[in-house]
Amino acid sequence: MIRGSLCASCGAAWYPEVIRCALCGSFEVAPSPMSGEGIVRSFTWVHSNARHPSPWGLAHIETAEGVFLVGLTEGHLDIGDRAAVLRFEDDLPVYTRQVDA
Ligand SMILES: [Zn+2]
Repeated sequence: MIRGSLCASCGAAWYPEVIRCALCGSFEVAPSPMSGEGIVRSFTWVHSNARHPSPWGLAHIETAEGVFLVGLTEGHLDIGDRAAVLRFEDDLPVYTRQVDA
């Protein structure tokens, strides 16, 4: 579960939380819990010692709520995979491949 914002005026969803809707300009935005689950739109391995261990996965996720966000990954993800938030590290969501139960 991640915490974003939902605009009462136009219905746009945002992550992270915002105080004003960047789409319509309304201040009528409220905190909104989001599943964080979504589809992998891009993925790359980052070879940098900024995080350990290296390399580390970085993915662009389109969430079910319509928000695009960047997250770390636990292992390799393919474009089109369904992904879910596993945990948070340094305020970033860490995604893993979502498998059907
Ligand atoms: Zn809005």
